[in-house]
Amino acid sequence: MTNHKNGCMICGEDLVYHTDNKDYKCHYCGETFSARESCEAGHYVCDTCHSKDAKSFIIDFCLGSQSEDPLELSRDIMKHPSIKMHGPEHHFIVPAVLLTTYYNKTGETKKLDSSLKTALKRSGDVKGGFCGFHGACGAAIGAGIFASIITNATPVSERGFKLSNELTAGALTKIAAHGGPRCCKRDTFLAIKDGMKFLNEKFGLDYEIDTETTCEFYRFNNECKTVDCVFY
Ligand SMILES: [Zn+2]
Ligand SMILES: [Zn+2]
Repeated sequence: MTNHKNGCMICGEDLVYHTDNKDYKCHYCGETFSARESCEAGHYVCDTCHSKDAKSFIIDFCLGSQSEDPLELSRDIMKHPSIKMHGPEHHFIVPAVLLTTYYNKTGETKKLDSSLKTALKRSGDVKGGFCGFHGACGAAIGAGIFASIITNATPVSERGFKLSNELTAGALTKIAAHGGPRCCKRDTFLAIKDGMKFLNEKFGLDYEIDTETTCEFYRFNNECKTVDCVFY
């Protein structure tokens, strides 16, 4: 299931096929390509980016991103065809966008590559359906994985242990308050927002927490709570 099944994967507009080649910048990798198709708004995605699997796409896109807005970064990632409406790849999206924007803000971008690989490995342990079957949504655990990585936490740490578990607990509380049924988009946005709040409070950062976040994926979610969801 892609997010925009027939039209542009970025904005959903119809694709336009031109008689002559034109130069287009790929929305994801930023390289320029000569092509005959784009959407009506001018978006273009190259074949290499289009065909990546979720894990390599998330890693490559985050490594090339200068974003300091994890919510916007997550929404851009969710538009890629490898990211399903629901699925355990969201457990990796949460730490990936928090790590990317955190290092972009603090100037420690050299750490991003190895931190993303650690987050990928750890989030891989959190299977799909953890929310309902284990009582711990993987998006919230993804936030805890992020806190664990930036504090170098281990099971015997003091501060890192405290902060990582605090962030998971905070995100889980928000997710629980909204109730089911599961929505990997809603729960990812809630976990990311809690991560931003956590970084502002505990690490003195200045994330602008956009209270007006809206979700453009509702039409692909059969169980969307619509007016009962804060992001609808
Ligand atoms: Zn478009
Ligand atoms: Zn590309």
